[in-house]
Amino acid sequence: MATRSLFLLPGDGIGPEAMAEVRKIIAHMNEKEAAGFSTDEGLVGGSAYDAHGQAISDADMDKAMAADAVLFGAVGGPKWDAVPYEVRPEAGLLRLRKDMELFANLRPAICYPALANSSSLKKDVIEGLDILIVRELTGGVYFGEPKEIIDLGNGQKRGIDTQVYDTYEIERISAVAFELARTRRNEVCSMEKRNVMKSGVLWNEVVTATHKARFSDVKLSHMLADAGGMQLVRWPKQFDVIVTDNLFGDMLSDIAAMLTGSLGMLPSASLGAPDAKTGKRKALYEPVHGSAPDIAGQGIANPIAMIASFAMCLRYSFNMVAEADRLEAAIATVLDKGLRTGDIMSDGCQKVSTAEMGDAILTAYAG
Ligand code: NAD
Repeated sequence: MATRSLFLLPGDGIGPEAMAEVRKIIAHMNEKEAAGFSTDEGLVGGSAYDAHGQAISDADMDKAMAADAVLFGAVGGPKWDAVPYEVRPEAGLLRLRKDMELFANLRPAICYPALANSSSLKKDVIEGLDILIVRELTGGVYFGEPKEIIDLGNGQKRGIDTQVYDTYEIERISAVAFELARTRRNEVCSMEKRNVMKSGVLWNEVVTATHKARFSDVKLSHMLADAGGMQLVRWPKQFDVIVTDNLFGDMLSDIAAMLTGSLGMLPSASLGAPDAKTGKRKALYEPVHGSAPDIAGQGIANPIAMIASFAMCLRYSFNMVAEADRLEAAIATVLDKGLRTGDIMSDGCQKVSTAEMGDAILTAYAG
């Protein structure tokens, strides 16, 4: 009997091509490992707009809210550039994040040994890298009010954004970081700008207090966010879990991601608060890349970011740690063998299609 519900939203462009490879893995796990996944599928982004005139329909939104986890492909493309702002493809993703209250964004930066030479940094700096950035996703300067441009009446205008954080927002994001650290190398580095920002002072106080009250077994350090950016490119292996706010997290996670190479390799997860009754968190897993309209429909997209996002889903939504480890190891094995999609192709390697890459990873996973 199915016990684990997944709602698939492949979206636009290369989203459906990448999702097809995950579907093969789910089918295998159900058939050979009695994993008990039940799947349903909906429309999001431009494809939802074409069908319903909305970036995600209410019915699909209900299904996303009810599922144990949502797997999301990508949205957008030139076809929908001119649609009204409220129903643009990205509005579907924003609604999912908002309605599911996904306040914690997890972006791992892992360097697969076979790709250590393709980073812009020296091989010894990134070889074996495995860090996790936990970014606060629903608060801070992107949402704080007032947020406006006012006319000062003297030929000048003033642009205002407000950085604002309440205690509970900092507590819950730091708790996620500490909990995740316990499943890894047990270290958290918190980054803010307490030297120049009041929200940074509060951030530092609340993280410290949360650590003392509930997570004193985890090693905690603090770093100013600008110094953190520098350290990320100087010696990223010094970090295990980094926790930071929405604005700094946006930048630091992009820096960390690019340490390891192509967009086609980068997974992410967004988590909500644990349900009071079941303890389960709402969760959405998605590759970092977009819909890549330039290569969509050609069967050449790299499915690894999508597959690695599913591995995160196994780990964080279903506590299937052994299966997640095996799937990530399967990706490493296939890269070791020299199989590459176009975006990560290098001399002496074998160029493969989306489906060939997916099949090879499944074969390696199945052992
Ligand atoms: P993109 O990530 O779609 O593509 C950037 C470049 O990386 C392109 O050259 C693309 O071919 C390549 N690329 C990306 N993913 C790849 C993969 N898996 N395999 C091989 N190559 C890959 O970003 P963009 O071009 O700026 O945006 C295209 C569309 O995607 C836009 O409509 C944008 O709004 C949307 N977008 C959506 C999301 C999302 O759904 N979360 C994120 C970013 C952009």
